Amino acid sequence: TPTASDLKALVRAVPDFPATGILFRDVTTLMSDGAGLAGAIDALAALAADLSVDAVAGIEARGFIFGAALAQRLGTGFIPLRKAGKLPVPAMAEDYALEYGEARLELDPTIIRAGQSVLLLDDLLATGGTALAAARLLRRAGAHCTHALFVIDLPDLGGMTALSEQGIEGRAVMA
Ligand code: 5GP
Repeated sequence: TPTASDLKALVRAVPDFPATGILFRDVTTLMSDGAGLAGAIDALAALAADLSVDAVAGIEARGFIFGAALAQRLGTGFIPLRKAGKLPVPAMAEDYALEYGEARLELDPTIIRAGQSVLLLDDLLATGGTALAAARLLRRAGAHCTHALFVIDLPDLGGMTALSEQGIEGRAVMA
C-alpha cells in the first residue's frame, strides 16, 4: 500500500505552466500508475469513511477520473460538473473568477434529488474558487453539500479557509 509520500512522489511538478512562475502539479503521472491510482482512491475513500454520502460530484476533467472511481468504491452515483457548453439539456450555470479571466461550471439539475448529500471532489484545491462555484451550483440544484475532497491541497492559497467560510469542510490526501 503506497503511503501519502509515495503518492506525492508520483505527482509531477511542471514549472511555468500555465504561466511563468507557476509550478503546476500534474496528476497524470499519479493516475497512470496502477498502484498510484489505487492508492489515491483508497486514500480518498478513507477520508470519506465517516461521511454520509448519497452521491459524488466531480469537476471536469480530472475530478471525473478520481470522482467516478470514488463513487464506485462508495457505492454511490456520480454527478458530473461540466465546463461550459457541453450539456445536451438545459443547464444551471455558475460563473467564477480565475487568476486570468472567467470560467463557468454547468449542471443538469434534474439529476439531483432534493436534500441528497453530495460529496464534492476535485484533483487539486488552490484558492477554492472552483470548488466554491461547484458547491453553489449543487446547492442551487437542491443538494446538501458540506464536504469536499481533493487529492492535493496547496495550503498557502487559502482554499480550505475559503471553503469553511461557506460551510464546507475540505479534506485532502496530500498537501
Ligand atoms: P482554485 O479554483 O482552487 O484556485 O483552483 C483549483 C482548480 O484549478 C481545480 O479545478 C484544479 O484542477 C485546477 N488547478 C489549479 N492549479 C492546478 C495545479 O497545479 N495542478 C492541477 N492538477 N490542477 C490545478
